[in-house]
Formats: sequence, C-alpha cells, structure tokens
Amino acid sequence: MNISILVFGSNNFLTTLPDQICYTSAFSVEVITNLDQAISRIQITPPDVILVQASLDGSMELCCWLKDQTKLSWIYCILFEDRPQQLADRNMYGWQRELEMTAAALKQGADAYIWQLHENKIDSKASTTNHQLILAQLTVGLRKAQKYRDLMRTNDLLSAIALADSLTEMNNRRALEWDLPRQIKKSRTQRESMSLIILDVDYFKKVNDTYGHLIGDRLLQLLCTRLRHNLRFQDTAFRYGGEEFVILLAHTTGEEALGVARRLNRIVSEQPFALNNKLTINITISLGTASLEAEDDDQGESLLYRADQCLLQAKAAGRNRAIGWEYSSHVSHLKAVSS
Ligand code: GH3
Ligand code: MG
Ligand code: MG
Repeated sequence: MNISILVFGSNNFLTTLPDQICYTSAFSVEVITNLDQAISRIQITPPDVILVQASLDGSMELCCWLKDQTKLSWIYCILFEDRPQQLADRNMYGWQRELEMTAAALKQGADAYIWQLHENKIDSKASTTNHQLILAQLTVGLRKAQKYRDLMRTNDLLSAIALADSLTEMNNRRALEWDLPRQIKKSRTQRESMSLIILDVDYFKKVNDTYGHLIGDRLLQLLCTRLRHNLRFQDTAFRYGGEEFVILLAHTTGEEALGVARRLNRIVSEQPFALNNKLTINITISLGTASLEAEDDDQGESLLYRADQCLLQAKAAGRNRAIGWEYSSHVSHLKAVSS
C-alpha cells in the first residue's frame, strides 16, 4: 500500500524529520501550511498519518478539528512540540511540566506528542534517539491505518454478503428494507416521482413439480439475469421472496412504471428460457405497480401494499399481465366510494 503522510508544517520543519520519511518511495508526503487547505485536503483524500508542527498557526485547531471528525478518527495525528515557550518551560520545570503538556496535547486530539529537539542544541546520539522515537510513532500510526483498511475491506465484504441473495446474486429483501426508505426520502427531498413494481412468477410450483428444484433454481437465475439486463440505469431490483421480486424505479411516474412493467412482462413471456441444450421452459410473470404518494409512510409499507394489491389483482385476472394502482379496480372502487 502507498502510505500517505500529510505534514502540517513549514519546509524547515520537514528538514528536521528523519530522512526515512521524506526519501522513501513507500510514503507519499505532502506539505501544507494553511489550516483551511489542510482541512479540505483531509476531507477529500484522508491521509494515513498527519504530522503537525505545533508552532505553526492553526496547529491546535487542526488537532481539535480532527478529534471531532468521527469518520476520520482513525487518522493518526503526531504533534511535534517546537514552540519556544513550551520548550523553555520544559527545561525550567522538568518532567512534571512535560507530563502535563503531554496530557494536554493528547486531550486536544493528538495521538502522540513528540518533543522537537533542536539539532544544534543536542548531541548526535540524542538526535538519533529522537528520530527513532518519531519512526516508532509513525509505525504505530501505519499499523492503525492498515488495521482500519483491513476492517473496511471486511466490512464491505460482509455488507455485500448480508445484502445479496446467494442464489441469484440480486439484492435481497434486507437490502430493500434498507434502500426503500432512503429512496423515498430522496425523491421527497428532490420533489421527484418514484414508483415500484412487484412481480411474481406464474405457476412456478409446477416448474419445480415437473422438473425438480435444481431446474427451478437455475430458471430463477436465468430470469434474474434477463430482468437485470432489461432494467434502466435508475432501476434497482431485489429478490423479495421465493420467486417474487421488487424493482424500485427512481424518477418514474405511475404511468411510466406501468410501461416498464409491461415491457418486463413481454421480455419474459416472448422468449423461452434455455436451461440446457435439451430443455427450454416458457414462463410468464404477473406484475403490480404503484407510485409514491404524499400520504405514504416513510418506510414504504403503504407503497408496497398498493403494488402488492395490484399483483394479486393481476393474478386473479388470469396472470401474465401488469396492473398499475392508478388504473386498478381499487382506485375505481375508491373513486366510486368518494363520488
Ligand atoms: P402463482 O404465483 O401463479 O399463484 O403460482 P405459484 O405456483 O408460483 O405459487 P406460489 O407463488 O405460491 O409458489 C411459489 C413456489 O416457488 C413455491 C416454492 O416451492 C417455489 N420456490 C420459492 N423459492 C424457490 C427457490 O429458491 N427455488 C426453487 N426451485 N423454488 C422456489
Ligand atoms: Mg408464483
Ligand atoms: Mg410467490
């Protein structure tokens, strides 16, 4: 991994650091002397380690700001004490003062506090020891960054496993429960339409009974692939249950959703599925659609309910068709009741 180090300090300060930091290809080192620039750089591409020169304007603010960023708290911040007053105090009051200042620095947000000894005032042995301490602290920071990256990778993997259906590799029901409220919130904020489709395979039990469950499984995989290939960029499909799927349609009105549903209905019924070179199976699907209304709850339960009612109606009407809520008998019934 290429380790990135941000130095919040002057070029002069950079020359006091061990050569291993500046002249090793494993590290990419960037020097910034302005607080606002440093903050925006950290927000855009967070470094693994930050080295802060205490005497530079904004150094303490940077440590405090970093401590308050919960999402960036893994960045290791090493504060280098080079303020003349602090160095003089330390010399005058000894280790008691040193401990107090270290405690204050850690409290302010630094992960490590290192005294910056002036090369011309100390012997070369002390300078070497000081550089060893800096490199040791850097190693701690890098270990932390490595652990964080490993954790994030594992986290991504576990999320992918938790949200994917193992048979079809489609998003699963848990993913829908996570995504639907977010899509609803987004479309309400943007004052955009959104719709959803629920679809269920017709007489799928018969496929299992006739050809066995393994063929049934394979057919579901082929169906998912075909559905996925025929969705638009803004559509997201989920396996809702056995052979039942939900498709979220962002920026889509009820009328457009019914158009999408009719197209999916056609692409399934018009071409048989080739299970192997000897077996092809024809299936059909029934679909219900509904679009988001102002009265719908934030979780999407009422929206799902309306689409499901349309699916049931499509089944009852003979299957192999799409019915939209706006055009369903439920609405005609409601209209009849309210008029
Ligand atoms: P219809 O929906 O048209 O009313 O009839 P259906 O026969 O499809 O009825 P239903 O939807 O109630 O039955 C679904 C069947 O799908 C029952 C179940 O055995 C089968 N099934 C569900 N999940 C899987 C799966 O992962 N693999 C296989 N092979 N079959 C599944
Ligand atoms: Mg079915
Ligand atoms: Mg079903």
